[in-house]
Amino acid sequence: MHDDHDAKAPRPLTSTAVRWRRDLHRHPEVGFTEFRTASRVAGALADLGWEIRTGTDALSPGDRLGVPADAEVDAAYRRAAASGGDQRFLPAMEGGNTAVVATWRAAAPGPALGLRADLDALPIRESADEGHRPAREGFRSVYEGVMHACGHDGHIAMAVELAERLAADPPPAGSVTLLLQPAEEGGRGARAMVPAGVADDIDVLIAPHLGLNLPTGTIASSLDGLLANSKLRAVFHGVASHASLAPHEGRSALLGAAAATLAVHGMPRFPGHETRVAVGRISGGTSSNIVPDRAEMLLETRADEGAVNEDLQARVRTALRGAAETYGLAVDIELIGGVTTARADRPAVALVEAAAAAEGLRVVRARAEDGVASDDATAFMRRVQERGGVASYIGIGSTLAAPHHTPSFDLDEAALPLGVALLESLVRRTLAGE
Ligand SMILES: [Zn+2]
Ligand SMILES: [Zn+2]
Repeated sequence: MHDDHDAKAPRPLTSTAVRWRRDLHRHPEVGFTEFRTASRVAGALADLGWEIRTGTDALSPGDRLGVPADAEVDAAYRRAAASGGDQRFLPAMEGGNTAVVATWRAAAPGPALGLRADLDALPIRESADEGHRPAREGFRSVYEGVMHACGHDGHIAMAVELAERLAADPPPAGSVTLLLQPAEEGGRGARAMVPAGVADDIDVLIAPHLGLNLPTGTIASSLDGLLANSKLRAVFHGVASHASLAPHEGRSALLGAAAATLAVHGMPRFPGHETRVAVGRISGGTSSNIVPDRAEMLLETRADEGAVNEDLQARVRTALRGAAETYGLAVDIELIGGVTTARADRPAVALVEAAAAAEGLRVVRARAEDGVASDDATAFMRRVQERGGVASYIGIGSTLAAPHHTPSFDLDEAALPLGVALLESLVRRTLAGE
């Protein structure tokens, strides 16, 4: 299967999805710097008659988490402007507002289908080995140290070909909205798009992901059991003093952080739920005879239900503030990333299964441990569900050369036309009200 293509010379790049995937694979961009990717896909969809919202119309800048430093964001912007970024859409994205929401409307009103596709790559150095197809066939990352190692290049590529097919043979009623989100990795992008209202009017939301250890030709119609998480940074501020001459005048930030660590790891269990807490890093202080006036802590919470994770996170914040109070400190707590869980709705799963059957794809059961720990598409799913819509996170099989998030990761491109066929069938069924 996978090796069949390798035996031949490079395949002719006839399909839009393969052409786009290879171009995006060569030009990977990390979260909130996806200027080239986002502006080009916006341009392609606009040319096909889609309505485009981008910049602050597509996300709430203050709700973004973990935005890279200004210098990095600005350098990526200039690079995109010089390497084929679409000037019609780039200016609105300046400063890292790289979300795109594209909507296609049929002549008559009808059901509203939403599809999520993520734009970002990972800070990984891609393999240059001859055995790695992108290296061998000339589409290895040209941005050293950044790589599409999760398959998001394939997600965008499928969306563009889907748009072409809908333009060629438009459904008579309904609408399709593509939620093209930045910064999926780290759980930082979708949460900033939800407050912009981009998921509010969607009746059926499907979030597809390629790979996930599913072989080419198979579909997982739902993927449940992902853990919610929240990632926090806490900075304790105290008062420095001589540790021997005037210890009573000091306020040790490190003592506060140490006490907080014990309190965090002493959190109660939640019967019937999987939960985790971890302090992964503490640093602070300068010398053995100076009371340390600053300490920084990185920590996370996880749970198998969003509400449980929120409860746990609230208790952790209380513990951090309590420890600070005990030692006369101030503490700043910052959420630097986080995702929630979401459950699939049966009607959404049934739509995906009908589309898969119509396209000759085999539906398989996927488990969280098959290869995905969390995905912030759950923020969109929850919003759609709150508003009375239905949703599912699905897997599109693609036999992988190496696991997700590794330097030799590579999609089986034969999965791309199958994924497009599935999505097209899904659009036509949903818009027809089936
Ligand atoms: Zn990933
Ligand atoms: Zn991913």
